[in-house]
Amino acid sequence: MNTALRDFLGTDLQFIKGVGPVLAARLDELLGGRRVLDFLLHRPSYVKPRGMSDTVLTAQSGTVITIPVQIISHKKGGVFKSGKRAPTQVVCRDKMGGELILQFFGVSFLDYWLEKLPIGEWRIVSGRMDFSGTHTSQTRGGALINHPDFIEKIEDRAKIPEFQAIYPISEGLTQRVMANARDAIFAKLFPPNGGVSPEWATGGVSEFFTALRAVHYPTSDDDLAPDNDNIMRLAYDELLAHQVAIALTRQRRKRGTIGRAISGDGRYREKLYANLPFKLTNAQNAAITDIENDMARPEPMMRLVQGDVGSGKTIVALAAALDAAECRVQTAFMAPTDTLAQQHYAKIKPICDAIGVVCDILTGRDKGAAQKEKLISLRSGRTQIVIGTHALFQDAVVYKDLGLVIIDEQHRFGVAQRSALTAKGANPDLLALSATPIPRTLSMTIYGDMDISVIAEKPAGRIPIKTTTLPVARINALVQRLAAQISAGAKVFWVCPLVSESEDSPFAAAESRYEYLQKTFGPSVGLVHGQMDKKERDKIMAEFSDPHGRIKLLVATSVIEVGIDVPSATIMIIENAEIFGLSALHQLRGRVGRGDAQSFCILLHGDALTESGMKRLNVLCQTDDGFAIAEQDLLMRGAGELLGMRQSGWTMYHFVDYAAHRDLFKLATRAALELTETDPALESAAASTARDLMFIFGREIKLNG
Ligand code: ADP
Ligand code: MG
Repeated sequence: MNTALRDFLGTDLQFIKGVGPVLAARLDELLGGRRVLDFLLHRPSYVKPRGMSDTVLTAQSGTVITIPVQIISHKKGGVFKSGKRAPTQVVCRDKMGGELILQFFGVSFLDYWLEKLPIGEWRIVSGRMDFSGTHTSQTRGGALINHPDFIEKIEDRAKIPEFQAIYPISEGLTQRVMANARDAIFAKLFPPNGGVSPEWATGGVSEFFTALRAVHYPTSDDDLAPDNDNIMRLAYDELLAHQVAIALTRQRRKRGTIGRAISGDGRYREKLYANLPFKLTNAQNAAITDIENDMARPEPMMRLVQGDVGSGKTIVALAAALDAAECRVQTAFMAPTDTLAQQHYAKIKPICDAIGVVCDILTGRDKGAAQKEKLISLRSGRTQIVIGTHALFQDAVVYKDLGLVIIDEQHRFGVAQRSALTAKGANPDLLALSATPIPRTLSMTIYGDMDISVIAEKPAGRIPIKTTTLPVARINALVQRLAAQISAGAKVFWVCPLVSESEDSPFAAAESRYEYLQKTFGPSVGLVHGQMDKKERDKIMAEFSDPHGRIKLLVATSVIEVGIDVPSATIMIIENAEIFGLSALHQLRGRVGRGDAQSFCILLHGDALTESGMKRLNVLCQTDDGFAIAEQDLLMRGAGELLGMRQSGWTMYHFVDYAAHRDLFKLATRAALELTETDPALESAAASTARDLMFIFGREIKLNG
């Protein structure tokens, strides 16, 4: 791609014929950018055939029709009794003598329409046919178009497309604006003498623009389907751009920075394994081996361990920390909340004590002398493993030699926090843990710069959770069954989507559900939610976790989603389950089924649940595999909707369909790896296409730096 093309693609849309500054600003809002390129990457979503016809006599109400007509007369709309202005009507006749009325609201100057549609002349008009709902008796039953989309002179009939590409648009934009901008842009890209302007694009990227043109000028919905050749081509190019960028970043990281090789003698880990009351699963062992290998290399490790709730990631992380401790290198283990940090500490501390490794905890709660002592111990290197929250990277915290950083629930931290912690050491190894299973196809994109180990296996002996759906109308029967279970010793989570009742929302609120359940269960019901005082919340949580505590039934909002470990809880009830994502539901469900007893999950849903909503919930009833669920979530809702995805700014594609383009994904990944291995500087002719694509899809990275 030469500079002329690059410059054109980077041109501000306001300089495109017919756009101007006002529309460019609106386009900017729609497209998230105001360059020609941003427009080109915005694809039409469907095709509207404009129904070329010669007569209205056979036209169907509600369909779009395009027809030549002769103007017969004008009727200026009067004023309705209500005082509202009646529309102006223009009576026309088609070739076969069929009558068609064009009706205009708002613009009431007869002169305007007389000039635009002079009596006796022919025009070609296009719009949606309507036969009813008009205000005047003359037209009742007659053919009518309200505000035609197009009115053109007969010689300009080419201005009305036979098949109209419909773009997703927002306030202040029309399909007409989109089509005009598109036409102006493509007239530059493909000058009338044919072919892509030769001095602009050559080779692979010219094929890209040819495919792009076909997608912007579709003649049927098939032209926009994921299996269309042009769409596949664009999707592949897009994937290739992303994958090359990822491969290069990863390569750079591995070649560029030198950390240190950490390879323990295994003396602590052997003690760990000897002390465990269970055997590690194969998947846990495989993850530990991956980590060991990474740590033994001088380049800093960047590994993500993905595993469902309860798959046993903590032990894997601990094994890594002990590996570091054997080499007298410190580990910082960061969790997103105080509660989670406390829980990890409660589990890990006794194991460390038994092994003879110094383990400490540091959170925002530590103050004064106690905090000072902890900091001194860290600075001196006495503390080998420190568990904590954001407090771990405060200014006051100095490590003697931080060699390993572990981040639990990694999606809850931003890149900045991650690097604030790693900056406390000299290129320390990084181990991230995530309980949000992401389909493989996606995780490559999202965590492109990380190596991934998956723990897909659950520890043996886990009893699968029995999951069922229940309409909320049957809540009384449910409460009765719960009463029996609770008196037999069960503990119950009851999750509601809202804290308090809202007029705008029909969804269940925790507060009113709490009051309702108190009627039956009295003081054994507790309530926790995010807007509550933290101390109060912790107190109630403790009363619920305590096997002999007062609270047996805990009503909560989804604040309990992350990490909370109450092994004795065996029943999870989720209200308005239909409004949660499948992955979120799966996470919530993972709060039970942690002990030896049979656990249950009941998905309460509204009465008006649609068939597809029911299908979604049934996925959860049928499988307990977080990866399979995430995959379904992806298929059913699209990537953008996956748990918290938008907020975290995960890559969204323009042409890629996650479900339909899996094979392309593999192809592009392979091609990207081959390319970056043989030509890391992207200098060859073949690589120049990749470079162009990286520019087009905004994945440019500095090639020498
Ligand atoms: P998560 O992956 O959700 O962080 P944890 O590490 O908290 O899971 O482990 C959940 C529970 O399973 C813990 O109580 C842990 O001791 C136990 N566990 C871990 N690995 C195994 C195993 N291989 N066999 C049996 N229980 C295990
Ligand atoms: Mg965990």
